Amino acid sequence: MAERRQTRQIQIGDERVGIVKVGGDAPVSVQTMTAGATHDVDACVAEINRLAAAGADVVRVATPERKDTEALAEILNQTRVPIVADVHFHFQRALEAIDAGVHKVRLNPGNITDRDQVNAVIDACKERALPIRVGVNEGSIIERKDKQRRREELGKFFAGHRHGHLLALMIAKLEEYLEIFHDREFFDICISAKSMDAAFTIDAYLEIAKRFDYPLHLGVTHAGTRETGCIRSIAALGSLLSQGVGDTIRISYASDPVFEVEDGLELLYSLGLRERVGADLIACPTCGRIQVDLFTLVQEVRSKLANEIEIPMKVAVMGCVVNGPGEAEGADVAVFAGDRRGIIYVQGERVANVPEPEILDRLLAECRLFQQRVRSGKAKLGEKRVEIVPPDPIGELGSGVAKIASGEVDRVTQLTTGDT
Ligand code: SF4
Repeated sequence: MAERRQTRQIQIGDERVGIVKVGGDAPVSVQTMTAGATHDVDACVAEINRLAAAGADVVRVATPERKDTEALAEILNQTRVPIVADVHFHFQRALEAIDAGVHKVRLNPGNITDRDQVNAVIDACKERALPIRVGVNEGSIIERKDKQRRREELGKFFAGHRHGHLLALMIAKLEEYLEIFHDREFFDICISAKSMDAAFTIDAYLEIAKRFDYPLHLGVTHAGTRETGCIRSIAALGSLLSQGVGDTIRISYASDPVFEVEDGLELLYSLGLRERVGADLIACPTCGRIQVDLFTLVQEVRSKLANEIEIPMKVAVMGCVVNGPGEAEGADVAVFAGDRRGIIYVQGERVANVPEPEILDRLLAECRLFQQRVRSGKAKLGEKRVEIVPPDPIGELGSGVAKIASGEVDRVTQLTTGDT
């Protein structure tokens, strides 16, 4: 991992909802955007609150019509996370959103181009100390002809580059647009430069990072369904973040934006750019050795842990006793399944051996208990007191249903206590 690039810093929010700093020494933040209509106040508030609960640091809403900006005051009143107004084509929507109290505005240089209109938005933001995101994207620059000269100059600079033509256009557009802000002495700016192409996105942000010291909002736009969109976003954002570029991110695809938040956070946790909140679930990739319905079990464990566990404990769900113990090394709570049963360990100490229908409840009970013990100082995260010794696959779990049915395999049913 490269060191984070030094940038200016902007602040989004206020005393009531809290302030999210972006750029400088601030941690990388996660943003998303609501999918429903902003003018449907109740639904919009519910969606924003759901996104905030999932961990979104900032939420953006679309404001295409007057009725959307009219709804903002009430939406802001009922939510507790910084809100950004996404504005295209109509600069009046930006002014209305600012009047309503939004915490930031996003302008697209591809569709609000009139200098006086941009100046009006800059002045309104300046008066209230609000930042502006200048969000250029590939789709809104490629038809423009007006930057022919600069494009030709930059085109020469990027000659031979695989994305030279588009990069030249994008940077010319940004330079031109930022000049308006600089003439107004406005520097509370964040930049984004999105494309649907992950490789182009990487190139574009790296070039922009060399030229401007504003914080960068990373994203791949129109990335597709969750399946493809997540991979495209992670490919581009993971590469940029590992090179120290990027100050706030939005993973985007056509699905519930709660997933965008969860995936964005997981990317930051995986790169060590944010301290994990909640459990870290390790699950085996599965193979022909599984003898329980591991897919269902893992999904159930994941959703229950998300609701019940607030400390960053490691929980492992492994499909067998052959490789599972080795692969779950270091987990605080682990289950190794086999022969329709599961053996549960807490920090290396075996605490239960239960049939498959009881695995979920018992594992969660152990996780809750472990959380309590950590909170009361009786246990420490990541402290592995006893080596996990793999249970004998022949004797206990690998011996077949007949052995279990005959009662030869003991069940440990007593919960561990705070003293263990
Ligand atoms: S833990 Fe067992 S079932 Fe899971 S992938 Fe490893 S060997 Fe296969």
